[in-house]
Amino acid sequence: VRARVMQVDESPDVTYQDIGGISAQIDEVRETVEMPLKNPGMFDDVGIDPPSGVLLHGPPGTGKTMLAKAVANQTDATFIKMAGSELVHKFIGEGAKLVRDLFELARQHQPAVIFIDEIDAIAAKRTDSKTSGDAEVQRTMMQLLSEMDGFEDRGDIRIIAATNRFDMLDRAILRPGRFDRLIEVPKPDAAGREQIFKIHTRSMNIADDVDYAELAEMAVDASGADVKAICTEAGMFAIRDDRTEVRMTDFQEAYDKIEAEEEEAEDVSR
Ligand code: ATP
Repeated sequence: VRARVMQVDESPDVTYQDIGGISAQIDEVRETVEMPLKNPGMFDDVGIDPPSGVLLHGPPGTGKTMLAKAVANQTDATFIKMAGSELVHKFIGEGAKLVRDLFELARQHQPAVIFIDEIDAIAAKRTDSKTSGDAEVQRTMMQLLSEMDGFEDRGDIRIIAATNRFDMLDRAILRPGRFDRLIEVPKPDAAGREQIFKIHTRSMNIADDVDYAELAEMAVDASGADVKAICTEAGMFAIRDDRTEVRMTDFQEAYDKIEAEEEEAEDVSR
């Protein structure tokens, strides 16, 4: 019923092998989310609490959602996704109710990983304006914090949030017991881009002349999502040329095309 805002995915198919260039971040997520789900007794035995919530922050398209899905996959947890932006502009009390429903759903589907994308939409720093919209957003965030603070009965539920706008966040959500583990997910470096090109061409018919190191050098500043777009577009160039094998020139043309489109988009938004 709440399908539009809450997406339940019993078994996401993303694995750690599908994520390139951020192995340190994978390790951190495994330690903070996977370990407590797989081996909660370990934390009890040592006598420490696992991190409550993990916040992934960094530019768009760098693999934050993939990371959350891969943990859910690895632990056989249900993956429940909700976008912060879909919680705002609702009727009074509606956002808070959705947050309650979200946690209730997670309790019913334990073990579960709750992924809240664009957390900044409900957890931005308080502004001066006291419009009713702001108050409603505030209530939604308070409900989220209170669900997280109700630690004991949370059970086998881990919470991961993501944002592209870390600087905008209200520091209240970063307090201990809340999102107390921050993991920065940056854009990939050249080695990372090379890895991501290899991942996204795994099932493509690639010609012998394709040089992955060169592709990585070419696509300076590309995010993982950009690399994926370049690969798909390169395939399109091969198809237009009536070939099934994708060559180096296809990747170069794909990169040029996507670059040009991005510049155009920037000009329009200026
Ligand atoms: P946003 O902040 O825009 O939600 P995100 O960081 O959550 O972005 P994802 O949704 O994880 O980004 O990535 C979008 C797509 O880009 C993925 O489905 C994948 O195809 C590709 N991608 C992004 N990062 C990587 C990566 N590190 N390795 C492999 N593929 C990636």
